[in-house]
Amino acid sequence: MHNPVTQRLAELRATLNDYNYQYYVLDDPSVPDAEYDRVMQELKALEQQHPDLITPDSPSQKVGGQPIAAFGEVQHEVPMLSLDNAFDNEEFQAFVKRAGDRLKRPLNSGFCCEPKLDGLAVSVLYENGQLVRGATRGDGRTGENITANVKTIGNLPLALRGEGYPARFEVRGEVFMRRDGFEKLNQTQAEQGKKLFANPRNAAAGSLRQLDSRITASRPLTFYAYSVGLVEDEVEELADTHYGRLQQLKAWGLPLCPEVRLVKDSQACGDFYQQILQKRDALAYEIDGVVIKIDDLGIQQELGFVARAPRWAIAWKFPAQEEMTELLDVEFQV
Ligand code: NAD
Repeated sequence: MHNPVTQRLAELRATLNDYNYQYYVLDDPSVPDAEYDRVMQELKALEQQHPDLITPDSPSQKVGGQPIAAFGEVQHEVPMLSLDNAFDNEEFQAFVKRAGDRLKRPLNSGFCCEPKLDGLAVSVLYENGQLVRGATRGDGRTGENITANVKTIGNLPLALRGEGYPARFEVRGEVFMRRDGFEKLNQTQAEQGKKLFANPRNAAAGSLRQLDSRITASRPLTFYAYSVGLVEDEVEELADTHYGRLQQLKAWGLPLCPEVRLVKDSQACGDFYQQILQKRDALAYEIDGVVIKIDDLGIQQELGFVARAPRWAIAWKFPAQEEMTELLDVEFQV
């Protein structure tokens, strides 16, 4: 006899595994993000009611998809995780409260507020100031080696500027396609009778995960750094705040999103969310929310991680824009 909860959990997990395969492995999403998020929310809610039924291989516990073997593997020495989501102010304030409760003292850190760039996460390793390796996030532990492709991204430095950077360190950031570049690319694809990309995120992912780096080189990709991963052999001490480290990256020549702001409290995070939401359509690139990070790295370390996301950051998502009709429209044009 079937238990209806077990059965529903299995259905939701199978659906999400299919969506993930289409999105992460084939770079060809089968449903809009809003639909994916809805199914994931249902899964998480059901798992919360039945924690004994959570399995380690549930999509709620995992990051991304399986890396493609053809690229060669990169083991992430510091795992590349995902982010938990908040969908409204109440959920965002609950995130702040959880952090304070866990610390058992008032949360006396500012917050770094950043747009949530809609591209894909990339790890870039520098040794003695030279770019030596680029990798996708993959499943968070094992990524794809895309060094040759990453080197073609115009605004990503092959060699760092200045001095004081660690002898070996990893910069993490988002590779994305600006709206104008995306439109031009789709126009060219249409002229050549090729398949159109559903959205700039999908175009960026498809362009970066090419086995022929000449194709990547012909695509208009941009990189913005948003964190530091592995650090070995510090020359000068790195800053002890997230925002401070971003400023160091900038001084060494790494591009940052110009909208990033340091704010002092959770109320100001709400103001940032509203400002960026209003600017959303005027930005040159697509974003799907903001990312709020507790700025003090000591506190970040104290808070740590859960299975697939840090406890010190949250993606506060904007209301969905993309609808199924948009995806279908694109498919009809192919
Ligand atoms: P996520 O996109 O919600 O958040 C984590 C990612 O945010 C990071 O890996 C990084 O790439 C990105 N990011 C952008 N700006 C950042 C910043 N300033 N700082 C830190 N990170 C930043 O999580 P995810 O696990 O990559 O993907 C889940 C989401 O992807 C879903 O919520 C859904 O929207 C979409 N998705 C859609 C489908 C589909 O079929 N349509 C399938 C899978 C996933």
